[in-house]
Amino acid sequence: MKSVTVNASKTYEVWIGEGLFARAGERISPVCGGKAAMLVTDDNVERLYADEVEASLRAAGYRTARFVFPNGERSKTMETYASLLGALARARLTRADVIVALGGGVTGDMAGFAAATYLRGVSFVQMPTTLLAMVDSSVGGKTAIDLPEGKNLAGAFYQPDLVLCDTAALKTLSHGVFQDGCAEMIKHGVILNDELFTLLKEPIAGRMDDIVARNVEIKRDIVAQDERETGIRQILNFGHTLGHGVEKCSEYRVTHGQAVAIGMVIVSRGAFRMGICGGDCYNEIVEAVRRYKLPAETEFTPEQLIEAASFDKKRSGGYITLILPERIGKCIARSFSLDELAAFVRLAMKR
Ligand code: NAD
Repeated sequence: MKSVTVNASKTYEVWIGEGLFARAGERISPVCGGKAAMLVTDDNVERLYADEVEASLRAAGYRTARFVFPNGERSKTMETYASLLGALARARLTRADVIVALGGGVTGDMAGFAAATYLRGVSFVQMPTTLLAMVDSSVGGKTAIDLPEGKNLAGAFYQPDLVLCDTAALKTLSHGVFQDGCAEMIKHGVILNDELFTLLKEPIAGRMDDIVARNVEIKRDIVAQDERETGIRQILNFGHTLGHGVEKCSEYRVTHGQAVAIGMVIVSRGAFRMGICGGDCYNEIVEAVRRYKLPAETEFTPEQLIEAASFDKKRSGGYITLILPERIGKCIARSFSLDELAAFVRLAMKR
């Protein structure tokens, strides 16, 4: 079992290892207290893991209730969020009680937003079950739901009280969902940690506790410096601005991880062509993406991506910040006007 301590506006522990579901109650109770727990999960994860987690919560003395929603991004809406708030009220959860998010990033983002807002804030535990949620979304306190106008447009910064990553859950993930998490790990390696990047060149099966812990440490270091994403935390957006463009153009048929992989390759090629990084750095990024069988190319044109990226919410005052690699393990943030962005994307995507 590994653990990482996160020091943000709240200090909390991230536990990583196999068998944590069965011991969830005994880990949660001393940290969160309370008498009642609402288990929030999607229908896929419910079938696989909810009984085990709920039994352990009951064994630790919690009165439990479940809120289950249809799996997938399409559930991360105002409607599901409102139903969840209603379920919390009907279950008579008080401020002393706890919300437990058991699932991927969709579950964690939505349950976290409910935890931040129900009764102006109740205890919150993340139990991530996808690789992406373990290495990225469950740590750092970003919570959100989507609006019809765009992704993650309503949310809050709200740190969990505890994160339990049961890495045994990774074994039931589909290949595609596992790959999405791999894209975020490659991103972590490129932006901050060449050692992790090198580790990812070897087969990762059988080493997941160590690999997840290293990623959590990277996220922890960034969040500790810049919890509310006003500075260095922006580097986590490497590959994301153009990635969001690809996701949007494909009407979300291209998954988040695939889109981030494409985004990382495009901006790295642009960085190479502008002389910001060397050809070896660009080639290493392409190889990493290919090694994990993530896509490196897109069918969309520069114009389509520019248009989609121009609406990205990280645009401020007419400028968009792109994160560009200088070498593996080091990136810079550069601000682009819309015209400069268009020129950059055309240069990066030129055959
Ligand atoms: P997800 O929660 O939809 O999970 C993907 C699929 O995997 C779902 O169908 C789910 O039912 C299934 N699943 C989950 N765990 C499983 C398991 N152990 N075995 C079998 N199936 C399982 O999506 P995701 O990829 O985990 O997360 C994507 C979301 O995370 C997006 O909404 C994104 O905006 C958000 N996100 C948030 C942050 C943040 O900092 N808060 C960071 C990155 C991404």
